Amino acid sequence: MSSSHTQANTAAVGGLSFLNPAAPEPWASFVEQIDRVAPHMGPLSKWVDTLKHPKRILIVDVPIVRDDGSVAHYEGYRVQHNLSRGPGKGGVRFHPAVTLNEVMALSGWMTIKNAAVNLPYGGAKGGIRIDPRAHSRGELQRITRRFTSEIGLIIGPEKDIPAPDVGTNEQTMAWMMDTYSMNVGSTATGVVTGKPIPLGGSLGRHEATGRGVFIAAREAGRRSNVPIAGARVVVQGFGNVGGIAARMFHEAGARVIALQDHSATLSNEAGIDVPAALAHAAANGGLAGFAGAAPISVEDFWLLSSDYLVPAALEGQILPERARTISTKIVVEGANGPTTPAADDILRDRGILVVPDVLANAGGVTVSYFEWVQDFSSFFWSEDEINARLERIMVGAFEAIWQMAEERKVSLRTATFIIACQRVLAAREQRGLYP
Ligand code: NAD
Repeated sequence: MSSSHTQANTAAVGGLSFLNPAAPEPWASFVEQIDRVAPHMGPLSKWVDTLKHPKRILIVDVPIVRDDGSVAHYEGYRVQHNLSRGPGKGGVRFHPAVTLNEVMALSGWMTIKNAAVNLPYGGAKGGIRIDPRAHSRGELQRITRRFTSEIGLIIGPEKDIPAPDVGTNEQTMAWMMDTYSMNVGSTATGVVTGKPIPLGGSLGRHEATGRGVFIAAREAGRRSNVPIAGARVVVQGFGNVGGIAARMFHEAGARVIALQDHSATLSNEAGIDVPAALAHAAANGGLAGFAGAAPISVEDFWLLSSDYLVPAALEGQILPERARTISTKIVVEGANGPTTPAADDILRDRGILVVPDVLANAGGVTVSYFEWVQDFSSFFWSEDEINARLERIMVGAFEAIWQMAEERKVSLRTATFIIACQRVLAAREQRGLYP
């Protein structure tokens, strides 16, 4: 049996995460989060189990001819967790640790996120277990095209609309759009979001997730008396989400004192010149070698004292052990699933506010929604219009969730799940069960 099959099977039956061997499987974390919200569902609680059963799972083999002429097989997934409120929506991840279990959890979080900010979407997610850095551009294109064709059975502008996630970008979306369009015989810009602007992409989409993370941080800080100006900020992950969020903190007068990516962990007490770090990472494929900050150990990174801590890399980063020693006021989850439920409880008991992923990083899918709407009407909005609408949706959602948290005396995560699950389960009840 190939190692890829062993991984997938282990992931499906439970056990520990491949990403971080000490972390529980992401799907187990998601189910636990659903269990926590069930008592708040009142008459809708009879539908709660729906959320513990992904609606549809597609596992595909992705074979390609490699540059050296050999044939390689990769395992890919598309999971549609819940489609009660509309077509599926969620990213596609290219990462060597992708498992079915992880994609299931990510699709579940998309259901919650889309409902939390009231977008007319269900939740979905996809991924391929590859290391994108280990492939040439030509191989990545062949992998993307074959994967798109294989999942073409279940995606489409009115069925399920992928977008970028870890290891994928605007170029990946352009290849996906082109492949789907070739297969259906007409240009279907609305099949994916996060496309390049000339191909029906939206202004502001590239920055939207990081911008939303910043808006969520600002709203939390305003209510908790932690001003952004002068704040000490630590950011894990320096890609699309972490890079933009760090830049926005920097521009707002915060001091970004530490950054970590796959290549380096760096700190500078005086504050890192974030634009210079971004330029270095863009030119060198990562932070390693950036001269504007000093290398520190991974564990020291998690011990730094800060006002805002932004995990914006991968799930399973804040486990109970780290939650007991983290020294920050507000955790703003740019990544999906960075904090396990047990760690969440410890942070709450220690008085550390957590702005959950399903709210904090919803800016990306919100502008993806704008992109999809613009594609349908072939009428494109200005960046100011997009940013203003994003601001309105994020601030409105934050306020409603904050109020729910105060009313029910629950965490922001549980409050977000309450609002989202009420919407999803009410839609399920109104639609009724087929047949
Ligand atoms: P990306 O590929 O652009 O960046 C990922 C970053 O994480 C890179 O800087 C990488 O070096 C770093 N990283 C990878 N492994 C690491 C490790 N072991 N330790 C430290 N850093 C590591 O991905 P992204 O789009 O920025 O996504 C980051 C997170 O945000 C993911 O959890 C993703 O699901 C979530 N998210 C992304 C979007 C989006 O629009 N891109 C939207 C919502 C949520």
